[in-house]
Amino acid sequence: MRILLVEDEQKVSTFVARGLTEERFAVDIAADGKAGLDLATTYHYDLVILDLMLPTLDGSQVLRRIRKDNVEVPVLILTARDAVADKVGNFEAGADDYLTKPFAFAELLVRVKALLRRGPVTRSSVVRVADLELDRLSQQVKRAGKRIDLTAKEYSLLEYLMSNAGRVLSRTMIIEHVWDQSFDGVTNIVDVYVRHLRNKVDDSFPQKLISTVRGVGYSIGHGTQP
Ligand code: CA
Repeated sequence: MRILLVEDEQKVSTFVARGLTEERFAVDIAADGKAGLDLATTYHYDLVILDLMLPTLDGSQVLRRIRKDNVEVPVLILTARDAVADKVGNFEAGADDYLTKPFAFAELLVRVKALLRRGPVTRSSVVRVADLELDRLSQQVKRAGKRIDLTAKEYSLLEYLMSNAGRVLSRTMIIEHVWDQSFDGVTNIVDVYVRHLRNKVDDSFPQKLISTVRGVGYSIGHGTQP
């Protein structure tokens, strides 16, 4: 899952981004309101964490414009302890939750997970493709009822494939979604991770779920040829 963090205090953004990355989220950071709005309306995010006091465009303006653009992404507001009046205004403008600074990372994580669970549309936390099952909340993966242990990146890759089952995803799409903007490596990283994933998810089963679409990318579906 991909999160946009709009925060001008580098100390805070570094601390939050590090924690979220450890929790297997892909995180993009914008250091001012305008950059945040640009990202929020250009890319698909599962959640936006938005500071209120920001240069160029303040958080409540960013929020109003996000909602005006009809972006249904959940938004978690970060606010100074004394800005109670602002809080009310921001809920009216479409914020989903808020957190007062300073906060413990654990507290942020609880709220992030609660918002993601709710999501823009009601959906189950479990995604299934044939006998492969992925639970977004517990982050557990099972095939034919047997637990499969994945690394953080393997998990993110599988989640992205399964969320788009039946669709062909290009290497660029995969990199943009599973890695983040700061990723500047070679595209064959995707091939390497798909190989790891196949090794764990497909190799010991007769029915191969992950397929290669030559010259395009990868997809996951019911019973494909290896
Ligand atoms: Ca700030």
